[in-house]
Amino acid sequence: MIDLHIHSDCSDGALSPEALVERAHRLGLRALALTDHDTVAGNDRAVAAGKQWGLPVLAGIEISTQWRGLTFHLLGYGVTRTDGAVASTLEFLVESRRQRNPRMVEKLRHLGVEITMEEVRARAGGEVVGRPHFAAVLLAKGVVRSNQEAFDRFLGRGAPAYLDKARLDPEAACRLVHDAGGVAVLAHPGLVERDRPDLLVPLLDHMTGLGMAGIEAYYSRHDPGQTLQYRNLARQRGLLVTGGSDFHAPGQGAPELGRGLGGLFVPDTCWEALEDRLATGG
Ligand code: AMP
Ligand code: ZN
Ligand code: FE
Ligand code: FE
Repeated sequence: MIDLHIHSDCSDGALSPEALVERAHRLGLRALALTDHDTVAGNDRAVAAGKQWGLPVLAGIEISTQWRGLTFHLLGYGVTRTDGAVASTLEFLVESRRQRNPRMVEKLRHLGVEITMEEVRARAGGEVVGRPHFAAVLLAKGVVRSNQEAFDRFLGRGAPAYLDKARLDPEAACRLVHDAGGVAVLAHPGLVERDRPDLLVPLLDHMTGLGMAGIEAYYSRHDPGQTLQYRNLARQRGLLVTGGSDFHAPGQGAPELGRGLGGLFVPDTCWEALEDRLATGG
């Protein structure tokens, strides 16, 4: 059992990189990739903890990307050269959150919610502060009864406190991953299909043309039919297949490391294929 899609408290996960690796070891996982949103801050810590527990950890990232009105996520694996242009692009992404977040606090206050930017920031373990941190504050204050209610009533796209942030286009997102020495993989194609079924195949072809190397066919919220479909789409294009849970926090009803919602199983061959690709130069 492996897991190649995991968030730590360096973005919007609940656990530190060290605690994640320890939990993965305890659950019997054989390999991991940390894929925080818009940051590589936790990677060195996760890799070091992996050495301690004898668990190989791959440095990763998940980047919000925009194409033809669709928002999708691009995973990067083996992103180890993170200075220069990579650092400036990541700084741009964090800065766009810094611009957006206080304006979302203002919107919430206009809606009558007592909330401050300090309270939101205090929920984050690092500098990537996002809407899930807002949701956590709203939940703690009893303004909403669930994370989902926070998104439905306030934070989701189209809801009254929502504000968009700058996102990379496919070219810039692929360039970021490649400049960092990594391979790019389309995250959770099931969400692309949910949002824009007409764009999944055109997106795959566009991204493949930009050097994207794989598809995340195994995912907590993909059913077996979807997984098969995405494996076929990968095979037809000579792409790798990867998979992961999108673990954010322990809890009932949320994806767990490795096993997702219960039905996830990411084959070890996904790890081996990814390692081979990285060894031969991305
Ligand atoms: P941000 O990066 O700050 O824009 O927040 C994006 C994160 O918020 C996503 O990775 C999801 O975890 C969460 N999210 C976004 N939209 C929704 C939604 N409609 N319902 C629940 N969670 C959401
Ligand atoms: Zn997240
Ligand atoms: Fe994602
Ligand atoms: Fe994710």
